[in-house]
Amino acid sequence: MPNAIIALGANLGEPIEALKAAVVDLEGTDGVAVKSVSPFYTTSPVESSGPDYVNAVALVETTLTPMALLKVCQNIELAHGRVRPQGVINAPRTLDLDVIDYEGVISDDPVLTLPHPRMHERLFVLVPLADICPEWQMKNGQSIEETIKKVKKMHPDQKIFTLSSKSMA
Ligand code: AMP
Repeated sequence: MPNAIIALGANLGEPIEALKAAVVDLEGTDGVAVKSVSPFYTTSPVESSGPDYVNAVALVETTLTPMALLKVCQNIELAHGRVRPQGVINAPRTLDLDVIDYEGVISDDPVLTLPHPRMHERLFVLVPLADICPEWQMKNGQSIEETIKKVKKMHPDQKIFTLSSKSMA
């Protein structure tokens, strides 16, 4: 069965609860099996605004097509109150689910670009991904650890902290 990586993030409402609910929704979706979920992180907004985000990534196995998986993610966002204010790019959000990778498929379709085009510059994706897939290789062949080091150097403004295990309970 194909493996896919989904990044989860939220910075409005109850972000921790929203991420937990999204994982439950993914688990409850026909054709999707959640294999692992990273620890939750608190991160400063990147190209966005508002309060700090809570972020995590999930590794899933799926029988769905990449496009059907994206649709599932968007429906979960909507079920948790996601609104997309017109003309506002990267607006604060109650829940955001991005398909980061689908079995190594490469696609430049703007509706579903794979791997996610900005994953390599976002610590809020790379750091939790390294927790659950330490052997991950970027599209350019670089290891995830090398990529994280580079991004930390280039973007010292990107703050990321592990949430205490208490908040995960
Ligand atoms: P966002 O507002 O960050 O949720 O962006 C969602 C938009 O990006 C939608 O129009 C998606 O069709 C598009 N998109 C392109 N590639 C991806 C991807 N890999 N994962 C999620 N959304 C994507």
